[in-house]
Amino acid sequence: MSEIIGHHEVIRGLRSGLVSGNLPHAFLFMGPSGVGKATVAHGFAQSLLCADAARSGEALGGCHRCAACHKVQVRCHVDLQWVEKEEGKTRISVDQVRDLTRFLSLTPMESAWKVAIVDDAAEMNAAAANALLKTLEEPPANSILILVTSRPGMLLATTLSRCVKYYFQSLSKEEFSQIIRGKTSLGDDQLDSVINYSEGNLGFALSFVGEGQLEQCNRLTQELEDLLRQGGLGKLSEVAEYWSNADRFPLAHFVVRRWLMEKVRDCVYSGGVPGRVREWLTVETFSKEMFALAEAVNINKRLLLEGIFIKILRISGAFL
Ligand SMILES: [Zn+2]
Repeated sequence: MSEIIGHHEVIRGLRSGLVSGNLPHAFLFMGPSGVGKATVAHGFAQSLLCADAARSGEALGGCHRCAACHKVQVRCHVDLQWVEKEEGKTRISVDQVRDLTRFLSLTPMESAWKVAIVDDAAEMNAAAANALLKTLEEPPANSILILVTSRPGMLLATTLSRCVKYYFQSLSKEEFSQIIRGKTSLGDDQLDSVINYSEGNLGFALSFVGEGQLEQCNRLTQELEDLLRQGGLGKLSEVAEYWSNADRFPLAHFVVRRWLMEKVRDCVYSGGVPGRVREWLTVETFSKEMFALAEAVNINKRLLLEGIFIKILRISGAFL
């Protein structure tokens, strides 16, 4: 489990619940993507399941020494269930939620609680979301359910109303830098680029650090500039094909969105004609909707990118 940095208010609230023992059965951790909601959920689960109850409320994450803490760290504690969408699937299925409700209804085996974490709760399909309602309405004794999401608007109103909500804020630039610095030996220039590209999304920033994707980002930025300056449909298909690869697409999502937002901003600040600003805004909105769609359903990512690139080409005047 990563070290928890920031989120002082949330952690204070969770610790006070641990100390008093006055805990609700269902939590909703909501806030921007990649700020560490799941990491805090993991730490909270560890505190709940830690064998050294006297220390479990001292800091989030339990004592870090007992067998229970070690098992939670590697996610193999019998009283902890972690639910995510399965590989290759776009949603969390009803079968996964049925497993979860069955798990929560059992008596804890090695600790005082049964703990289940659903990350990302907005990925539950309709049947799965409905299957969870009964557990929320009649929570089994000694059960704790933690729903994690950046899109609470996608949850059922009845789900929202039955959870105690914890609001996560974006990390400050200092907190963000502190975490990245702790995990890398990047120089200041590169660190600034990583922070810029990742727009506050820590999970994404760490993927840069881990895989050295900075060069890839610069490559796509250059390709977008070339498209805009030189046009050319052949190149467009080639670029879309390359970035539609499942490993590269998340990075393309960030770079394209950031690049378009910068274009809108540049156009406004340079006193661009209203028609031009509107053109960039249209492409920016279109890309935002397309990428949101790609997160929700399984669509052809090459066609999605081509669609965005064609709109960029239109602005370049290549079709006029
Ligand atoms: Zn422990």
